[in-house]
Amino acid sequence: MAPIFSSFPDKPDHNLLEIEILDLWERERTFEKLRELNRGGPRFSFVDGPVTANKTLAVHTAWGRTLKDVFQRYKALRGFDQRYQNGFDCQGLWIEVGVERDLGLNSKQDIEAYGLAEFARKCREKVVWSAGELTRGCIRLGQWMDWGNDYYTFSDTNIEYIWRFLKLMHERELLYLGHRSTEWCPRCGTSISQHELSQGGVYQDKLDPSLFVRLPLRDRAGESLVVWTTTPWTLPANVAAAVKPDAEYGLRENGEWVAVARYPNDRFAQRVPGADLVGLGYRGPFDDLAPAADVEHRVIPWDEVSLEEGTGIVHIAPGAGQEDFELGRVYGLPVLVPVDESGRFYDSYGWLHGLSTTEAADQIVGRLAETGFLLEAGVYSHRYPHCWRCDTPLIWRVTDDWLIAVDELRPKLLEANETVEWTPAYMGKRMDDWLRNMGDWNISRRRYFGLPLPFYPCECGRLNVIGSKRELTERAVSGLEQLEELHRPWIDEVVITCEACESDVRRIPDVGDVWLDAGIVPFSTLGWENPTWVENGYATGASKEISGADLPDHAYWEQWFPADWVSEMREQIRLWFYSQLFMSVALVGRAPFQKVLGYEKMLDEQGREMHGSWGNMIEAEDAFTRMGADVIRWQCAAQPSNQSLLFGFGPAHEIKRRLLTLWNSARFLVDYANIGGWKPDLDDLATGPPASELEPLDRWLVARTDALAQEATAAYESWRSPDVVRAFDAFVEDLSNWYIRRSRRRFWDGDELAFRTLWYALVQGVRVVSPVMPFLSDHLWRSLTAPCEAAPESVFLAGWPEVPEPNAALLAEVAELRRVVELGRQARSGAGIGLRQPLRVLVVEGARLAESHAGELREELRVKEVVFGAVEASELRVKPNLRLLGPKLGAELVTVRTALEAGDFVELADGGFQAAGHDLSADEVLVERRGMEGWSVAASDGVTVALDSRLDEELVREGRVYDLIHRINSMRKEAGLELTDRIELTLPESGRDLLEHQDWIARETLAVSVGCGPELAIAKT
Ligand SMILES: [Zn+2]
Ligand SMILES: [Zn+2]
Repeated sequence: MAPIFSSFPDKPDHNLLEIEILDLWERERTFEKLRELNRGGPRFSFVDGPVTANKTLAVHTAWGRTLKDVFQRYKALRGFDQRYQNGFDCQGLWIEVGVERDLGLNSKQDIEAYGLAEFARKCREKVVWSAGELTRGCIRLGQWMDWGNDYYTFSDTNIEYIWRFLKLMHERELLYLGHRSTEWCPRCGTSISQHELSQGGVYQDKLDPSLFVRLPLRDRAGESLVVWTTTPWTLPANVAAAVKPDAEYGLRENGEWVAVARYPNDRFAQRVPGADLVGLGYRGPFDDLAPAADVEHRVIPWDEVSLEEGTGIVHIAPGAGQEDFELGRVYGLPVLVPVDESGRFYDSYGWLHGLSTTEAADQIVGRLAETGFLLEAGVYSHRYPHCWRCDTPLIWRVTDDWLIAVDELRPKLLEANETVEWTPAYMGKRMDDWLRNMGDWNISRRRYFGLPLPFYPCECGRLNVIGSKRELTERAVSGLEQLEELHRPWIDEVVITCEACESDVRRIPDVGDVWLDAGIVPFSTLGWENPTWVENGYATGASKEISGADLPDHAYWEQWFPADWVSEMREQIRLWFYSQLFMSVALVGRAPFQKVLGYEKMLDEQGREMHGSWGNMIEAEDAFTRMGADVIRWQCAAQPSNQSLLFGFGPAHEIKRRLLTLWNSARFLVDYANIGGWKPDLDDLATGPPASELEPLDRWLVARTDALAQEATAAYESWRSPDVVRAFDAFVEDLSNWYIRRSRRRFWDGDELAFRTLWYALVQGVRVVSPVMPFLSDHLWRSLTAPCEAAPESVFLAGWPEVPEPNAALLAEVAELRRVVELGRQARSGAGIGLRQPLRVLVVEGARLAESHAGELREELRVKEVVFGAVEASELRVKPNLRLLGPKLGAELVTVRTALEAGDFVELADGGFQAAGHDLSADEVLVERRGMEGWSVAASDGVTVALDSRLDEELVREGRVYDLIHRINSMRKEAGLELTDRIELTLPESGRDLLEHQDWIARETLAVSVGCGPELAIAKT
């Protein structure tokens, strides 16, 4: 007869097993069937944040992908109808810089020389390649998404939705062209906005020159101001020096003015408040260069001058610093912008012309030394912002950028954030802080392959903002015929009519911030205000032919907006979570998501960032082969999301070891069921095995299983995947190390109820953990339910286990029993006695619940007798736990300590003590119990056990029998005997006295005969 179950190999080959499961899912169309099953069910709306399509799948992306899939799979098992649309971020600096590298281009001039149309094509190619790679990687990870119907942010549809948003901002007068100083990347040739600066890796340690420079006062011969700077290139743009009006300034004997607070030990010839210096004129360090020649340099007041660093006098260059620019506005200072878009000095700067800001530093220092302006030059290490995309140190430039004013929206944004449930909660607080402090949203970038800003300013003063492709078509006077998609260069050729004066106007060349692209997603992908459903309506422009996504209609948006849940890393607070919230509040006045699960960063095992150049980067491909997707997912799901995940092969090894316990437990069932001819019944999953017939240990395992299902459900419902993993881990340990270990003989005897109980526990356990570990779970489900004709073919088509309220009293009883066993083992090892040596008596105190389990205690602890009662034969020593009691008792501690030392205390029922009139809890004292002669004692949490450790001849002989049985069974295994094989057993002469126990030995080793001979030997009969 064919075996009932297919047998299991010794251990799972995760990679192989997962590839087989992927293949089954595809062939059986498991995901499609699941969606079909849930269609029309209650809705759970998930909106995926777009992943940047410029790379292959990196292992750090796995954390977020895993969390998304875990909770979507869980919700699907609960019958929720869901959206599974994946998104790709496909334009802006991310893509451009990657393509520049591929093509060997390194400046905007290079790109323009290469040709914008060809460059746009290359950018699209890169996205198509990366989307393919990412899709492949995510499928391998086990993520179930509607692959092929992805949204691409560079689609015309997405762009049109943003245009519409911008037009609305314009109509509400929130859009403006700002003239201001911003962080600027000289390599990328564009400004960098406030939220881009908040990304990881932007602030890095950097060494810069540290210069003390003298600025001679005009009307005070021999006197000068001393300023400090770390950016020499800004000195040629100097127009003013700022002092703190209410701070004290001192004149050194050598004629130098500095803040007294900075040099408290210096001698000063004169001291005045900063206010007295305001208005004085001075000579600038580079007045010999044309731009500064006519500038009247003067001292201005500024309350924000720092007395923490520098000299207390600040060099002000409104054209090369943000605060400087704002001050310049207040005091009407001239603005000298020394460098161009690529960070090189303009021709008007004479001998500096063409130099970059770093190249210029040495020459500037040299010149200052020659002209006598330089007092001191050194180096200075500080945290300095770098371009998030190309790593170039940023500079400041004054430029014209398009901005959206936030002040009017700010209170509504704060209110909307209040409605969101953040996990972990501190991330919500971070969002709140950001919303309170953020400045206007800088939305323009001077780049190429990005969202074309639909702004057409006319000389008549009217700003024309186009809100849709249709509007563009209606107002175009030329260029429409060549418009392939809404990208440069094609869009730049379209000329429209000004709505005010009817003259021809052109678009500004700027493109948009990528966070506009991602922020509009809850509208553009769900069909907000779209009158009719358009098949393939999202596959427009650049995403034509690579996506099959539809553009739904407004009714659909009503159903799926706002998202019930979104999940991304913490960094996204100021990025995607913010841009979505902003656009959503602006468009419909409410938050686009109700619940957020945020998570921190993935680092390597040692807690370092992963970098290709450090050799600690783990390729996703490599991780799949060497650890398997289940193990990757397990590591990700087990990590509390408020701490960084230290990912690596070390932790993976440990997880595999634990999964092997699960595997071995299932294998045990399968092996013995095949021997005993036992077949499972699927109905047991609904009803449980028949409670009235079960033994207490079976009833316990059923309760334990039901408790697992309950705990895991609660954890999934509150987005706590680490609790699911922890609960499952503990469950497997109980199942294997208590139930199976204590029930082996029943399986051997073919006890049907034991089989039913274990099968129930394993299958329900696998169902509960399947969202975390889909491959192994589905494999085990398929293996264990294969004999049941009506079983759903996949665990994911089996729904969520409905379990009754577990028997809490029984669970508590066994938990206490296991605590006593644990203490018994401690007492044994305290006495230095091995586990196989039988002993006479165990006395148990304080474990009332375990009283009905004396038989199990006798077996587990190998004692002849268990007595429940007071452990008298022990000496108790109690000391204060100083760390806790010190602060609590203060001076009283001495009295308490003396009382404890004198043995003058009363033990309380909860494990605490009373001494010198104080109640001390169990953790406030350190308890040591010493057994009386011949007794070994162990205690914790109010339970005490005492083990009679005295041996006699009979006990010693029994101990030898246990050792012998253990050795023979090892020999059976080594000889490759089947579980059912019988043997002839020969004992060595030295063991002749053990023949007294030959029936016992024969029973435990399946021996048909026991004799004596020269050495221990077994022979298969
Ligand atoms: Zn850059
Ligand atoms: Zn006009």
